[in-house]
Amino acid sequence: MELYNTLSRRKETFEPIEAGRVRMYVCGPTVYNYAHIGNFRPAVVFDTLFRLLRHEFDEVIYARNITDVDDKIMNKAQEEGTSIEAITSRFTEAYLEDSAALNILTPTLQPKATAHISDMVSMIERLVEGGHAYSADGHVMFAVDSCKNYGKLSRRSQDEMLAGARVDVASYKRAPGDFVLWKPSDADQPGWDSPWGRGRPGWHTECVAMIEALLGETIDIHGGGIDLCFPHHENEIAQAECAHGGTSFARYWMHNGFLSVDQEKMSKSLGNVMLVNELRKTIPGEALRFALLKAHYRQPLDWSEDTPSEAVAALDRLYGALRGLEDVEASSVEPAAGVLDALRDDLNTPQAISELFQVAKEANTATDPQERARLKGLLQTSADLLGLLQSKDWFTRGNENGPSAEQVEALIQARKDARKNKDFAEADRIRDELTALGVVLEDAPDGGTRWRIQR
Ligand code: AMP
Ligand code: ZN
Repeated sequence: MELYNTLSRRKETFEPIEAGRVRMYVCGPTVYNYAHIGNFRPAVVFDTLFRLLRHEFDEVIYARNITDVDDKIMNKAQEEGTSIEAITSRFTEAYLEDSAALNILTPTLQPKATAHISDMVSMIERLVEGGHAYSADGHVMFAVDSCKNYGKLSRRSQDEMLAGARVDVASYKRAPGDFVLWKPSDADQPGWDSPWGRGRPGWHTECVAMIEALLGETIDIHGGGIDLCFPHHENEIAQAECAHGGTSFARYWMHNGFLSVDQEKMSKSLGNVMLVNELRKTIPGEALRFALLKAHYRQPLDWSEDTPSEAVAALDRLYGALRGLEDVEASSVEPAAGVLDALRDDLNTPQAISELFQVAKEANTATDPQERARLKGLLQTSADLLGLLQSKDWFTRGNENGPSAEQVEALIQARKDARKNKDFAEADRIRDELTALGVVLEDAPDGGTRWRIQR
């Protein structure tokens, strides 16, 4: 299996440090708002990698944190006149609901930053003792000069790093590139006691301390969006390697490209921020997932008006092939070699999807019952690696605002009854009502009526 490593800027053969056991960490959400479709790109990409790794190795420990202490959360709570906990619990729940709708598996570990404050304090203490950090004005700062390889991930020059580091000329900084490990909290701000007074950790410290506590000093894979490469990941490396006497922190660094909307950056000021929570009202979560996997994870992905309908149409075809096999029991088989090979090649999901269509095409024309059973198994296990074709009611489930299956079935039954009683006016009225609800009626090969929701 080959993965592109941002550290070396090339594809490398992936080998876990411990044979058969993979440890992966991905920077998770800061829970102060609903997540947009771009935020879900890393969640879906690394979920797909998690699925592949589980297929390839005996044990995979996948940790994705929840950042529940951050100034953005504090500001949101103030804005709404509510508590920090009210904000973080509301948006953690929303994030997990959106994740489930996108068929994202629950990671092995989902640490919350606030549950690891003592790990953070202990790491900062070691950095201070080792001469890599200093306290000044209630803050503890990381001394970038003390870290000989600083910049090795982002490969930026000192000047570029300073420009990118949103340099503020705070009086307590010895050098402009130094970053905050710990900052003081006012009485009305969340804070914990520490050797430097009551305060809270800096964001870059949270991930490193959680990784050390839960996964160890060196992990196999560290992932996140490409925007995190600098400064966040560079600063994680600096802290971990200085705290651990130079021991390598993560062997493979993986970054997903950005998602844009109609070629523009998603931003509040442009009014083009698409929340998954909103999109889900009219588009099935699985179609959102499909659209995110349709592009290779390292490429930029542009979302346009047609993206969701194209994803729904593609899934209609795949589910259609599966429905054509509803009379056979799926054989238990390995995923298709073409799908596996594509995914093992740096998670080439567009290629894997096209291989999946190849299986569907064969399924549509196969007639031999044994072959059809094999193809059904192949389609399901291959799609499972991509987190697709998991729904039992793709054609009959409406969107969140649409009719329920029970409602549709009841109307179909009422129409049948009306026809039996020769009340054709009533039967037509019900048919119109079904049409208005977006229900399409089809004659099934067995003589019954099959229906689906027109999206
Ligand atoms: P945040 O909650 O802003 O820290 O973002 C959570 C994750 O989403 C991080 O890994 C970001 O890199 C990623 N991310 C944010 N915006 C986008 C975007 N437009 N496209 C792709 N990934 C994004
Ligand atoms: Zn992180």
